[in-house]
Amino acid sequence: MKNNHIDCLPNEILTIIDNSYNPILITTGMFNKRNPKILYCNKAFEILFDYNFYELYEQNPLIFKSSKTEKNILKKIQINITKYSKFEISTTNYKKNKVEINLKWKITELNINEKNYYMAIPKDMKETQEEKINVELFKKYTENTVDQIAIVCLNGYFTYVNESYAKKSGYSIKELIGSKTNIVKSGKHDSKFYKSLFLKLEQNKAFDITFLNKNKSGSLYYHKQTIKPIIIDNKIYSYLIISQDITNKLKDQKYLKKLALNDQLTGLYNRNGFESLLPQITLNNYKKNNNYSFVLADIDYFKKINDTYGHYIGDLILKEFSSLIASKIRSTDYAIRWGGEEFLIILNANIENTFKIVNIIRKEIENYNFYSSLKITSSFGISQLTDVDYNNTLLIADKALYKAKREGRNRIIVLNE
Ligand code: GH3
Ligand code: MG
Ligand code: MG
Repeated sequence: MKNNHIDCLPNEILTIIDNSYNPILITTGMFNKRNPKILYCNKAFEILFDYNFYELYEQNPLIFKSSKTEKNILKKIQINITKYSKFEISTTNYKKNKVEINLKWKITELNINEKNYYMAIPKDMKETQEEKINVELFKKYTENTVDQIAIVCLNGYFTYVNESYAKKSGYSIKELIGSKTNIVKSGKHDSKFYKSLFLKLEQNKAFDITFLNKNKSGSLYYHKQTIKPIIIDNKIYSYLIISQDITNKLKDQKYLKKLALNDQLTGLYNRNGFESLLPQITLNNYKKNNNYSFVLADIDYFKKINDTYGHYIGDLILKEFSSLIASKIRSTDYAIRWGGEEFLIILNANIENTFKIVNIIRKEIENYNFYSSLKITSSFGISQLTDVDYNNTLLIADKALYKAKREGRNRIIVLNE
């Protein structure tokens, strides 16, 4: 620490002042009576003016005077301080290297042990101006953007939300500020989700995360958020959250994916869907030792149904037929509309079990009253998936199906090669 040149101040107090964030200058008082002298300046002051203390000690404060400083500045200070004992004054000063600096000084007269001192605290107006511009810009941006913006303090309370954020949540700005963020919690995320959220927060970096939130009236919405820590003096102060509602986008994506992979009439997989399933099926087949069977099913005399009852009833029957198959298979099996009234069923089972399951399906179809009272039957061709060449398995299943038709329909034929 510097030597204590202000004999009335204990060293402890001087240490505190020396480490203050604000620049502080202490001079002798009564500028009109004798030459004022600088007695002390703290580190922040040294940094602001580029001087070190020993260059300033016992100097006249006019050392900071620039060509733009008022001529009788010391006198003006003296007059004001007599009137108010504490006042502000704006000046343009020089730093050590003659660079101009616009300051607003807060000057206070101190009377300690019957001695007068002036304490002057300068504020760099450039910084204040920049701060003001930043605040204005942030305000303009948050007022006009469609994004939902919030600031959340370390304890998880909202300290700021924009109109858009409030609107999305269904709460008013007043209700949100001071509330914990779990006011919009849906309860749909598990502990794993929160664990990964806290891990990301600990990394002190911006990151993206999508929450499933709940608004005041109970509706759920997917909220994609960019969370950015606000760091001041190397410490996280709070978090800035910029978010968008992506519920519709997700719905569209899900719908488009479904359209691409599923048949529109029956909801079963289409051929694209089949292609998308193949990697998983071949991998499981390899790992589980040939445990998949391909079943081709074709409705018997379906043309007659169309011819007799019309295409519309035909469509309804196709839907019922598909639902019936879907209800008889497990989550590890797949049903695909292969074409017209032909279906591929992939069963995660060996040939014996496949035959049993398919026979149950066959009987169910035979006994079912389609469109309330119509009777139909179906033929089936089965082949076991023996290697990665699923095309060969399909070909054999097709041969088996053809044989079932030829031998009288409403039956199952198993073929292996
Ligand atoms: P089988 O298979 O027993 O030999 O006789 P089938 O009459 O079922 O055979 P075919 O393959 O000749 O006829 C299939 C019929 O299925 C032709 C077509 O009218 C009908 N079909 C194909 N796709 C659709 C569809 O999407 N909707 C309706 N309603 N009918 C369809
Ligand atoms: Mg047919
Ligand atoms: Mg056919």
